[in-house]
This record gives sequence, structure tokens and C-alpha cells, in this order.
Amino acid sequence: MEWSNWSGSQQHQAERLITPATIDELAALLALARSENKVVRTIGSAHSFVPFWTDDYLVSLDGMRGLITHDSAAGTARFHAGTKLHELGEPLWQVGLSMENMGDIDRQSVAGAISTGTHGTGPTLRSVSNQIVAVQLLTAAGEIREIDESEPELLAAARVSLGSLGIITAVTLEGVPSYWLHERNWQASVEECEAQLESLIHSNRHWEFFWDPQSDLCAMKTLNPCDEPKAHGAEGEQLKDLAEGEFIGRNYEILPSSRELRFNEMEFSVPASEGWPCFMAIREMIRDRYPKLRWPVEYRTLKADETLIGTPSGRETVTISVHEGANRAFEPLFSDCEAIFRQYQGRPHWGKVHSHQATDFEQLYPRFDRFREIRQHFDPEGRFLNPHLRSIFGID
Ligand SMILES: Cc1cc2nc3c(=O)[nH]c(=O)nc-3n(C[C@H](O)[C@H](O)[C@H](O)COP(=O)(O)OP(=O)(O)OC[C@H]3O[C@@H](n4cnc5c(N)ncnc54)[C@H](O)[C@@H]3O)c2cc1C
Repeated sequence: MEWSNWSGSQQHQAERLITPATIDELAALLALARSENKVVRTIGSAHSFVPFWTDDYLVSLDGMRGLITHDSAAGTARFHAGTKLHELGEPLWQVGLSMENMGDIDRQSVAGAISTGTHGTGPTLRSVSNQIVAVQLLTAAGEIREIDESEPELLAAARVSLGSLGIITAVTLEGVPSYWLHERNWQASVEECEAQLESLIHSNRHWEFFWDPQSDLCAMKTLNPCDEPKAHGAEGEQLKDLAEGEFIGRNYEILPSSRELRFNEMEFSVPASEGWPCFMAIREMIRDRYPKLRWPVEYRTLKADETLIGTPSGRETVTISVHEGANRAFEPLFSDCEAIFRQYQGRPHWGKVHSHQATDFEQLYPRFDRFREIRQHFDPEGRFLNPHLRSIFGID
């Protein structure tokens, strides 16, 4: 079965590519893999840029999607793990809930998004992984295991686990009361951006910018909660009041963008206080060595969390992302950027290009060893390990 990820950088000729509709079908596949000693890797929406997958058995959870149940009093909703992020907004809204935040797009599956620590921007806002209060796992031994807040350390591990603890079959999301967002877009020079940096970060729910290496300008974007527009849906009054580059909508309509052009991406999380100096070092290097680069550098903020290996674990964070077109060689650019990120204690996004290995992660995450122990306990035979994960965890 031929298969490739979103950007086309990962190609596989998988022995089996299976889309089960039930947990029983999934368990049967896992039993077969055990008997044939095959590696099993799960695909969400294949939007990661790293070699997470395998030529043995690939499992897609596209057949296991949708709302299972909700609890209005607790403010939670349980979804099948293959549900795409763009399928969460409407059912959550119907019960008065919304996601606290999401990233630039909404095409990922909820299990794939949490497994790599997918995030948006906002210094008070958590990654998607932290919006989960329970996960249901099918373990390597074929057991169904529910992990929730009664086991905080296990939940902290399951929130960002790279598909290494088991196959996630359902997740319980903790929503926030549903909200409308007002989006503003404008351009600023790098100097203007720096002068307003702290105020932009702290006086907006969401703020980010994309620096364009060609114009040396920053495309700024803020999103803030607002009232429901009076004429929403009537195509008139409200829209007339909005300036160019402004939009109002339900949060799940405003938060994601569409990405038509394909690219590859590297992203590192650095301590918040190092964000600006790190960005300036990347900018200087790109202007010096890659003056023709046409893809932007993105700058976002992220609240500290308590996951074991989530990139903002234990520290307030700035994330910096570098892009290159999918049809172009990205290795020299990304390698030069990675050298700079290393100087700022950068932690690579788990789903984006990097060359870090176990010895690097041991330095970057105080509880990396604890995560490895938990992984070993859940999957002692390495059923869910491929060469990329073995290199991350330092397993021969
Ligand atoms: C255009 C684009 C925009 C992006 N924007 C952002 C952004 O704004 N912020 C950000 O943080 N990231 C962003 N990303 C990265 C992306 O969110 C992550 O790579 C995410 O993991 C992709 O989700 P997915 O469903 O495609 O998972 P996949 O890429 O398919 O899988 C990711 C990992 O999750 C595991 N997995 C998937 N499903 C399961 C399951 N059911 N059980 C166990 N493990 C599972 C996989 O095995 C793999 O290890 C972007 C990527 C693209 C291509």
C-alpha cells in the first residue's frame, strides 16, 4: 500500500494499511501484529513532517470519528480518537462548549494533535494536549486502558506520547464556555514589533506574527473575545463595520486558516525570555545565508504545562517555526536554524523536522527518563516503536 504524509516528505510501502471501524477490529489487527512480530504505527491525518510511520502495519482511525457523549455539568465531551479538529467545533458549540485554543489549521485528528503537543498561540493558553482530561488506550497487550485525572502522572505522559504508549481510541476534552473571536491583521516593521512586544503578548488573548524574509515585514495577527455580532448570518451590518483585515466569527471558524501550498516545517520552543533574541538570530542568519527564502518565520507564545515531554513542560514558552516549500530541499536551512535553536535551549516540536536524539532530550526534559519508564511498562516489546522513535528514546 503506497502512502505519504501531507508534505510528501515521508513515503511508505506499508504491508497493511487498515482503517478499522471498531475497537474489536483494531484489537484483532494488533493481535495479528503480535503473532507476526510486526510494528504498528497509527496515522491521524499524516500532518507530521517526521518519520513516525512504518512499512509494517499502518492503522488509520479515519473510521472512528465523532462525538460519543458529553457532560454539561463537567464541561467535558468525549470523542472517538480519529475525529478531526474541524469536526469538534460544531458539536461542542451545540452543548455550549469550545476548545480553549487550537493551532493554525484544523485538519489534524484529535489523537494526532495531542500526541505531538499541537498548540496555537497565547501566553495564557494551553496546547491541545492539555485540553484532554482522559484518554482511552488500546495497549500493546490488547487491553483497553482508561487514563484520567485520578492518575496524574500517567495522564501527563499520555497527553504527549507520540503514539508510543498504545493506540488512543477515545479522548475526553475539557471545553471552555463557547466564545466569539474578533481577528485583526496588519503589517509592522521588525522594530515596531519589538517595541510593542510585551504589550502585544499580554494585552491580547492570541497574538502572533509571520516574518517575511523578502520584505522584512511582520504580518501581525491578534484574536480577542467579542460579543456575538448582531447581524451575524445576515451578511450586512456587522461586516460593514469591520475594517480591512478584520473578521468576527465563532472561535472554531476564526482560529484555523487554510494552507493550500505544501511545505516542510521546523519548529522549536524556547524559554519565553529567549524568544526575541532567538528570533533575531534566526532572522540575521536567514538574511545572510538564505536571502532568497520565500517562506515566513512564525512567532507564537504558549503557556507552561506539566506534561512529561510536551515542549512547554515547566516553562513559559515562545515557539519559532521555519518553513520551506515542499518541492525544495530544506536540509541546509533547517540544519542552520537547528544550530541556533540549540543555543537557546530549544525543544523541537515532536511532529516537525529535527535531528535531536535521546541524549539531547535527556538534557532538555527533566522527566524524560520517567516517560521512558512509562513507555517501557506499556510497550515492553516495542510494538509501537519504529527507527525514529527508537532514536528519540535511545533504544537499539
Ligand atoms: C499545514 C500544517 C499546519 C500545522 N500547524 C500546526 C500548528 O499550528 N501548531 C502545531 O503545534 N502543529 C502544527 N502542525 C503540526 C501538526 O499539528 C502535528 O504534526 C500533528 O501531530 C498532526 O496531527 P495528525 O492527526 O495529522 O497526526 P499524525 O501526523 O498522523 O500523527 C502524529 C503522531 O500521533 C500519533 N497518533 C495519531 N493518531 C493516534 C492514535 N489514535 N493513537 C496513538 N497515536 C496516534 C502518530 O502515530 C504520530 O506519532 C501543522 C502541520 C501542518 C501540515
